[in-house]
Amino acid sequence: ICASVDEEASAKVAATSAESGGPTIFDKIILKKIPSSIVYEDETVLAFRDVSPQAPVHVLVIPKIKDGLTQLGKAEPRHSEILGHLLFAAKVVAEKEGVVDNFRVVINNGPGACQSVYHLHLHVLGGRQMKWPPG
Ligand code: 5GP
Repeated sequence: ICASVDEEASAKVAATSAESGGPTIFDKIILKKIPSSIVYEDETVLAFRDVSPQAPVHVLVIPKIKDGLTQLGKAEPRHSEILGHLLFAAKVVAEKEGVVDNFRVVINNGPGACQSVYHLHLHVLGGRQMKWPPG
């Protein structure tokens, strides 16, 4: 159902990671220990191309500091500002990518929604006709 190779294994990894709030691959991307194609960056957010694009434009927007935000469902009132900033950054990315008139923002929350990395991220998708309802 989800794109992962082994659903059961990835669900376990995800659950463990979600519980511990431990480091994810995105920490390495933030620290530039592994390369990524950065589209936009400021003091608090980073936007980079998804390694497995699901549309001609597929960019992930993440907070540089996780602060417990493994997923949207864990958001607390103190996160309001960064949440707003992430959404605005998604719009900036859409503009930069030339899709600001037609794009989609997705947040997968939990295994049932195919979340695979437990560091909050917005998917910015565009450059093709989207379908509704999503899968
Ligand atoms: P999720 O499934 O959690 O909503 O989204 C995680 C996304 O991260 C997936 O679309 C996946 O392709 C992407 N991703 C996973 N590992 C990497 C990586 O090392 N680099 C980049 N650029 N994207 C990644």
